[in-house]
Amino acid sequence: MMRHPSRRSFLAAAASAAVLPRVAVAQPTNPDVVVIGAGSAGIAAARRLIASGKSVIVIEAADRIGGRAFTDRTTFGVPYDQGASWLQGPAGLPHVDLAQSRGYTLVNHNTAGEAFYVGNRPANASEWAAYSNASDRIDAAISGGPDFSAASRLPADLPMSATVQSWTGPMDYGVDFADLSLGDVNGYGDYAYNYLIREGYGTLVADLGTGLPILTGTPAQVVDWGGPGVRVETDRGTIQAAACIVTVSTGVLASGAIRFTPDLPPEKTQAIADVPMGLLLKIALQFDGERFGLTENDFLTYAVPEIVPARASYFLTWPTGSDLAVGFAGGAFGWELSAAGEAAAVDFALGEFAGMMGSRARSHFVKGHMSGWASNPLTLGAYAAARPGKHSARAILRQPLGERVFFAGEALAERYPALVTGAHISGESAANAAVAMLGGPCAGAG
Ligand SMILES: Cc1cc2nc3c(=O)[nH]c(=O)nc-3n(C[C@H](O)[C@H](O)[C@H](O)COP(=O)(O)OP(=O)(O)OC[C@H]3O[C@@H](n4cnc5c(N)ncnc54)[C@H](O)[C@@H]3O)c2cc1C
Repeated sequence: MMRHPSRRSFLAAAASAAVLPRVAVAQPTNPDVVVIGAGSAGIAAARRLIASGKSVIVIEAADRIGGRAFTDRTTFGVPYDQGASWLQGPAGLPHVDLAQSRGYTLVNHNTAGEAFYVGNRPANASEWAAYSNASDRIDAAISGGPDFSAASRLPADLPMSATVQSWTGPMDYGVDFADLSLGDVNGYGDYAYNYLIREGYGTLVADLGTGLPILTGTPAQVVDWGGPGVRVETDRGTIQAAACIVTVSTGVLASGAIRFTPDLPPEKTQAIADVPMGLLLKIALQFDGERFGLTENDFLTYAVPEIVPARASYFLTWPTGSDLAVGFAGGAFGWELSAAGEAAAVDFALGEFAGMMGSRARSHFVKGHMSGWASNPLTLGAYAAARPGKHSARAILRQPLGERVFFAGEALAERYPALVTGAHISGESAANAAVAMLGGPCAGAG
């Protein structure tokens, strides 16, 4: 995901994931807090709890940590982020300092360029002007105002409208303009940084989790908050804690994979339904080193027919020097491509790329990969998007149950939802709330 402030500023100017052992460090038997999920939110929550002197166990269903921040080192032989790749967020978080202190290569992406095509040729000046004008007018139209759908505010008869909508809605927010809440669009805070990371964002998030008491391969099945404290049942036994922090996606919450007993209150269930998962799909194409005249770390976009949702994918070319053109598709078309499967998705993306670069693109093509977040039962989508008019449901998602079950994760992040850094902040907030409830000093739950 690349939130569009940096795209906007450009247009204005230019016309192996770390796999922890199943038991990472000694686990307290009955901790003060059990955290469900070792993604960005769960890792941040655990770090904050430990810093506050509380005992904690994090249980993670997958066999690795990091969640939707996942650097795949095997598919292409270079670090490739299947999920989050842009390190964006506010000052005051540990990510940039940690990356710099560990010698990560950060590529400032605020100045990224864009190659914009019409058919098989670069756009001419008037096409660029139409594209920039559409971008400015749509940005202005969706800035401010009540929490309607973005589609309801579109200027009529605007050339290049579908193109701008496609790169902004599905590819930034994971939903088409008709499903995009203006409350979401206008709720974002500013970024203090915007980097690509050569070693992978997933690697960095896993680094933040180093040494934490995390049990991987341990899905939570039941959260029983009926008695004193909280009992979390897993296939490896039951953990009794004074409090629990749930960080799974709204897709997982909606799926019922975790049973709450007593049931979640109706307003919480409704809020989960009101902030469902959007989809951003990555379809990476590996080439043999041929660059097709395209620049490292730039965007490759093109004019799409004036039909929405568009069947389109833009590309990030040769990020951090790799031989990958990473395609992005999202919204309704993203779900459709995911359902069609990897071969169909790669075929589509290669077709779009070759449509611009010519048929020789196919002779330089090595292999492709589609990210599987849509069907992954541990995510069931990419990141949450409030339904139009339902932005306020995010606040209901944040409300604890019985002052002992707290919620965290990107869907609940106040100013930076859908981002790794927002999930991190939300994890810290949930940990702070748990610490306040627990008081000190903690003797454990039982
Ligand atoms: C394709 C894509 C591109 C993205 N691009 C960006 C980007 O460029 N920049 C950015 O900042 N963000 C981006 N994001 C969003 C970002 O990845 C997420 O917002 C963030 O990683 C979410 O963190 P989280 O802790 O809330 O959730 P998660 O990372 O999903 O963590 C929740 C954890 O819970 C685990 N879990 C699920 N069920 C159970 C269970 N029953 N028991 C125990 N554990 C369970 C999951 O395996 C997971 O590890 C992108 C996401 C995707 C999918």
